[in-house]
Amino acid sequence: MGIKLPDGFLSYYREWEDRIGAFIEWRDDPGVPEEGGLPPDLPPLPPETAPLRGLPCAVKDNIAVKGFSLSCGSKLLEKLRSPYTATAVRRLEAAGAVVVGKTNMDEFGMGSSTDASGIRRTNNPWDQSRVAGGSSGGSASAVAAGVVPFALGSDTGGSVRQPAAFCGVVGLKPTYGAVSRYGLVAYASSLETIGVLSDTAARCRAVFAAIRGKDPRDETTREAPPGSPPLYGASRPRDAPRVIGVLSPEAVARAVATASAAEADGTEGAEAALQTAARAAVLEEEVDRAFRAVRDRLAALGHTLVEVEIPSLKYGVPAYYTIATAEASANLARFDGVRYGKRPDWAENPDDLIDKTREAGFGPEVKLRILLGTFVLRSGFQDRYYLRAQRIRAGIRRSFEELLGGADYGGPPPPCDGILLPVFPTRAFGRGETGLSPFAQKAADLYTCCANLAGLPALSFPAELAGGLPVGVQLLGRAFAEAALLDIAETYEAAYPIPHPPGHRPFWS
Ligand code: GLN
Repeated sequence: MGIKLPDGFLSYYREWEDRIGAFIEWRDDPGVPEEGGLPPDLPPLPPETAPLRGLPCAVKDNIAVKGFSLSCGSKLLEKLRSPYTATAVRRLEAAGAVVVGKTNMDEFGMGSSTDASGIRRTNNPWDQSRVAGGSSGGSASAVAAGVVPFALGSDTGGSVRQPAAFCGVVGLKPTYGAVSRYGLVAYASSLETIGVLSDTAARCRAVFAAIRGKDPRDETTREAPPGSPPLYGASRPRDAPRVIGVLSPEAVARAVATASAAEADGTEGAEAALQTAARAAVLEEEVDRAFRAVRDRLAALGHTLVEVEIPSLKYGVPAYYTIATAEASANLARFDGVRYGKRPDWAENPDDLIDKTREAGFGPEVKLRILLGTFVLRSGFQDRYYLRAQRIRAGIRRSFEELLGGADYGGPPPPCDGILLPVFPTRAFGRGETGLSPFAQKAADLYTCCANLAGLPALSFPAELAGGLPVGVQLLGRAFAEAALLDIAETYEAAYPIPHPPGHRPFWS
């Protein structure tokens, strides 16, 4: 017994896949998972996950599914078959969902376009000359095209939320520790979580309800603390009015420009880079307009909106890239061609084997980041880069906690139930001339990477269409308060739905 895909679905899938290239692996005839059932040391599935039974889903190719590819978008691991299944996937399978394929991604999750995949190119379903976003671009593209109702991705600095926004779907980056990372190939372990991409906020809620929970295989996981808002059966209605803090994008862009000017030390290259970074924080006109519209609509829905500030946010990107590359340089050291992955036919000695494997297997973005990571961790320089980044990280976390409250729900209610901010300064960008340089892409991660630095949940949902392309907005919340973010998004979605891309057919109710 597997699932029976609806009539006409496979040709629908093939037509879309020819245009978008979302998948690294696909199964026309998905079977039932071999292992079935939940291991006894995992918490049971809540009854509300029942609607997931029989639904197909896609999984980013850095999350293990037994018998499937686990390439991480890298040539080095192109032929790898996973011998085991990630906890999040086991939970979905136990809920009756069936994995139909593995999706394309920027190599090891490093990128914002999926163009840094070593395997293939993925296009945006709304306009195939544009990127789907990244690094979970394949998952976002497949959900937007209606090929699957939901998919798993991973979010280290925005990789679920940004492609969700580019493709017009819902993207949830859960609280750090809410979902097990067992079976997720590590990029930057202290920042990343497995996340959900889905067609609707209600579906996102059900998938999150299925995958979350404590797992003895990942010591950082924990159950939602007492007092945190329940996903189902809350006493307050989902459309109840909330207090939403608004992080003004103009103020953020101004702060980044001032910080960049202060950091400039007269070096020619550095000046230009800092100016590019400051420019990259400024919202494109269409995104700016959509952001303001959402703010007004949320007020019209009865919410109270208040302006908030996070002063340390201006250093978020440098802190994020310092920590992410430092952790990546350590995590990727295991890819040495000895135990798995492609290796050269011939090598002089073990060192030469490792050199040749990594030289041929890793793409340029991955090499750049390993170099950056080893640079910031060099002995004698840790204080200047890594420790400074950790201090910025702590400051950002503190500022958010002052507004949203901490993970301990015992105290008085915090000032805000959520914070509204942009996801990314642009809509889905094009390639070549019309694209964004890799450096500008990194600088533009400003609005997403702060949730990872703080370990907080953040939800990206479609705000509107502008010039035929979706624009998303983001709600950031208190630790383990995903429910509050989903409530607001669900209410918004009901009042202001956005259409599907041309050619979309609704196969999944
Ligand atoms: N764009 C960010 C990066 O390249 C985020 C990636 C991610 O979340 N995996 O690191």
